[in-house]
Amino acid sequence: MLSPKQKAIWRKRLLSPTALFFLSALVTWPILSELEAFEVFYEFSRSQKSWEVDEIALLIFNLTIALGASVWYKSRALKRVLQRRELERERAEKNARHDPLTGLMNRRAFYEMIENLSNSGGTSKASLFVGLVDLDRFKPVNDVHGHSAGDVTLCTVAERLRKEMGQGGHVARLGGDEFVLVFAPTMNAADVERVARRMLSTIAQPIPFNEQSVFVGASIGLVHWDGSLGLSEMMRRADHALYQVKLSGRGSFAWYDSDADKQTLERAEIAAELKSAIRSDKITPYYQPIVKIGTTELVGFEVLARWTHPTRGNVPPFTFIPIAEDSGLIGQLGLSILRQACADAADWPEGLSISFNVSPIQFRDPALVESIRNVLQETGFKPQRLTIEITESSVIDDVLVARPKIEAFKELGIQIALDDFGTGYSSLSSLRSLPFDRIKIDRSFVTDISSNQQNQQIVSGILSLANGLALDVTAEGIETSDDLAYLQASTCSLGQGYYFEKPIPADQILWLLETEWAEHFVHASPAVKAVG
Ligand code: C2E
Ligand code: CA
Ligand code: CA
Repeated sequence: MLSPKQKAIWRKRLLSPTALFFLSALVTWPILSELEAFEVFYEFSRSQKSWEVDEIALLIFNLTIALGASVWYKSRALKRVLQRRELERERAEKNARHDPLTGLMNRRAFYEMIENLSNSGGTSKASLFVGLVDLDRFKPVNDVHGHSAGDVTLCTVAERLRKEMGQGGHVARLGGDEFVLVFAPTMNAADVERVARRMLSTIAQPIPFNEQSVFVGASIGLVHWDGSLGLSEMMRRADHALYQVKLSGRGSFAWYDSDADKQTLERAEIAAELKSAIRSDKITPYYQPIVKIGTTELVGFEVLARWTHPTRGNVPPFTFIPIAEDSGLIGQLGLSILRQACADAADWPEGLSISFNVSPIQFRDPALVESIRNVLQETGFKPQRLTIEITESSVIDDVLVARPKIEAFKELGIQIALDDFGTGYSSLSSLRSLPFDRIKIDRSFVTDISSNQQNQQIVSGILSLANGLALDVTAEGIETSDDLAYLQASTCSLGQGYYFEKPIPADQILWLLETEWAEHFVHASPAVKAVG
């Protein structure tokens, strides 16, 4: 216990300027930075000349308390900062892994998840079923009802997919209207199909939006992943399966099919090779004679494209023409063939014409008339010697667009033939308003006509219609002398077919004109009738 005298001494000391300074330092220390505090203390100590030992002890005591308080205060502040940073990190992590609109996993999270699953080993690695979902008719929802309807649709679809997927499976949004499904590892192929079917049917249910309903459908490509494939290859396969669904009309699901995939890859390869073949005029015109049926007199040739590939051999037009159409090469291909044909025909007698095929996709090109006119000018080939063969499908979709084109060709002096007649659905009368010069009866009705009664009736129907409309008729596919004799007894004016000649290259034409043709045909048939 302190004596009253000692207490008085301590009271005096505690209230001394030194003590008061340290007390205030104790309070303000945590607020001042260490450096500032040290400077204050230093200044103060220099201003106080003589210090007593007990004052120094008090100073150390105060300093210790102040330091402790500072450490406590700063550690609390630091903890708050760390907590805030952790929250921000978690939020950023969530945003980086989730699609903000639907709340589903995003592409990155999906790839990470599937990578983890594939690295996890065990049986789950060997049997993952994955599905790629693409919405059908989503674009019109955005276009017609606006983007908020699109957002509502995506959220609703996401929710329906998640619900149908159930426990153990995952749904992610890859972007746009594309989702990906990872089915629960316990499911087999039949389960997967069942779920896919349910998903398709619930997605097709109306989606309420602003007291209206919007409708979308979906297509699903399914793939079985055994872990031996790279992730990108698995996704490519799922995408290919989806592509197959779309080709076959959408609104359904399909499993990845390696045969179909090979075909698609081959088509892609052919498309690439076709491009360079067209550029270097490796696709060449062959010529099939067209004759007057009655006299077998040669009147011209149908130009037919041929491609002799260095490793694939002869690639038939039925293979490369559709590929050229799909890959946007048909225009270049057609012009290259026409240019070569016009150059070849420059050496032939003036009376011989050429007949050139234009496919429906080619016909749609707004610059078609102009580019054909340019080829004729470049090569100096007379338009009166050119016939363009188009099919019904070129004109039937939009007669209003077809008519001015046909008329523009006719103004140039070019003739128009309606090719493959009889294979389409349109009747000749629905096409009669268009100024065709002739129709070509498809060879499926001509070959074997001498013995096939059904074909005889069809051809006789076509001939009487054509006569009524004052159109010339060419019969394709005449293979035998019997077929020729049958047609010679009809009103069919022109013909072509293997009986006369198969398509031949340009270098055989002059030889054909000088020898074979003259010897075998013009005088060959005893049933020759003059064509009036
Ligand atoms: P298409 O225009 O109907 O041509 C007639 C096809 O029948 C040709 O087949 C010709 O070789 C074949 N053919 C002619 N006579 C007979 C016969 O007596 N019997 C049999 N079985 N066949 C005969 P190719 O040359 O294979 O052409 C097939 C199709 O490819 C053509 O059918 C045409 O649609 C298209 N095509 C050919 N070349 C071109 C082209 O340069 N441009 C466009 N756009 N299409 C072409
Ligand atoms: Ca043709
Ligand atoms: Ca034809």
